Amino acid sequence: MTAIAIDGAHILTERRFARGTVLIEGGTIAAVARHDDERHALCAAAAEVVAAHGTWLIPGLVSAHTHAYATLLRGTQSALPLELWALYTIAYGAGLDDSAIATAMLLHAAECIRSGITGIVDHFPHVGQAEAALAAHEASGLRVLFAPFVQDISDYDLFGIDVPPALRALAAVGPLDCPAFEDRFAGFAAAARGGSGRVMLALGPNAPQRCSPALWSLWRRLRERHAVPVHAHALETRAQARIAQQRWPAGGMIAAMDEAGLLADGLTLAHAVHTSAAERELLARRGVAVAHNPLSNLTLGSGIMPLGAYAEAGVTVGIGTDASNCGGRHDLFEAMRLALTLPRAGEPDARTWPSAERILTMATTNGGRILGSGPRPTGIAAGALADLVLVRRSNAVNTLLAETIDGFVAHAGRDAVEAVMIDGRWVLRDDRILAFDEPRLLHSVAAVHAQIAERSAPTIAAIDRDLGAVAAQFAPWMQPF
Ligand SMILES: [Zn+2]
Repeated sequence: MTAIAIDGAHILTERRFARGTVLIEGGTIAAVARHDDERHALCAAAAEVVAAHGTWLIPGLVSAHTHAYATLLRGTQSALPLELWALYTIAYGAGLDDSAIATAMLLHAAECIRSGITGIVDHFPHVGQAEAALAAHEASGLRVLFAPFVQDISDYDLFGIDVPPALRALAAVGPLDCPAFEDRFAGFAAAARGGSGRVMLALGPNAPQRCSPALWSLWRRLRERHAVPVHAHALETRAQARIAQQRWPAGGMIAAMDEAGLLADGLTLAHAVHTSAAERELLARRGVAVAHNPLSNLTLGSGIMPLGAYAEAGVTVGIGTDASNCGGRHDLFEAMRLALTLPRAGEPDARTWPSAERILTMATTNGGRILGSGPRPTGIAAGALADLVLVRRSNAVNTLLAETIDGFVAHAGRDAVEAVMIDGRWVLRDDRILAFDEPRLLHSVAAVHAQIAERSAPTIAAIDRDLGAVAAQFAPWMQPF
């Protein structure tokens, strides 16, 4: 086995960065040393020594909620509330075939890798193209928890919105053929098992309110049969909070999910912006994690997730970058700064503000737990996965920073990402992605994008025309409480 030593970086420890050496063997960290003689011994044991003076070494960042296909939707409509924005997303998404999905996955991976993101949860709506997505994720070099959607209720049925005729077919969600889906899901599980181990499978119910009771049963069945995690949107917008109150007047949606046995360790809810204290406590008791997506929540006007209240309740929270057409760039440095500072807006007592250490833990360790890292050690420690990122300290922004995590979270950015390792293998070095052919990918993107624009043009024109009528019907649902 070829061992690699990374020597001289400022390595993340629990409370600060401290200089040291890390030895990597296979896909894991074999040893970490801080004292000179131990550091020399690790370097002597390695086949390759990487001199990393002038850098920080952090565990790879994990985007705990993303929709990788949407990299091809970047630059489209993003100035509407979710329920209206979704019409555009569905219309553009309908133009994606297998080859577009593969392109989107790799484009997403290139952006993530260059941003120091080593792991993602890909919540995937286009189940017809799941095999193409799985193959592209394998080729991407990223660690991926792949969560194909199930859903049999559209938002427009749920809210009783009369969708104009031109949009009806687009917005419709048919009943799901459960036995057929179970067969396909078993196929996805076999494909994931037969791969490198970096691409893992989860079940991805779009959202609890978008699934009928039959799908809640399917959810439990597949989770148990395949021992997979589950990833679902929940209580993202005001409209969703209102409909949940109406549909489950007794105790709310989270309590109903608990009664149905859906709240369990391994479940991650994306967003969970509009929850009560009792709901957050219940999530904590059941070991349910939450993926916080500060930028998409702001972009779509969904609200601000009460991060301090989740911390108080003891819920494991990761940070996501969500879709490119609502969450901006896949940039966890930016998302960390939002997660760090947003809670300060409504809270004058600085003692309750989340610390930089907590935020960095959310973006690394907690994200890893959501991905399913299991009981192995986390962070930069012997036995932890060798998903690592070197960040330059020698630029104008970072040059005065070294030891404090406060400084790192407040200032470091994706522009300073120097090298990225996933599963013990370099995927970015010397400004080059090593996992796949990035220049060739970038060359092919414009043609794929043009095809999507052409296929979706008539529907987009129809949405533009009828948007006012749909918006007027949604308006009462979107009022602040
Ligand atoms: Zn999402």
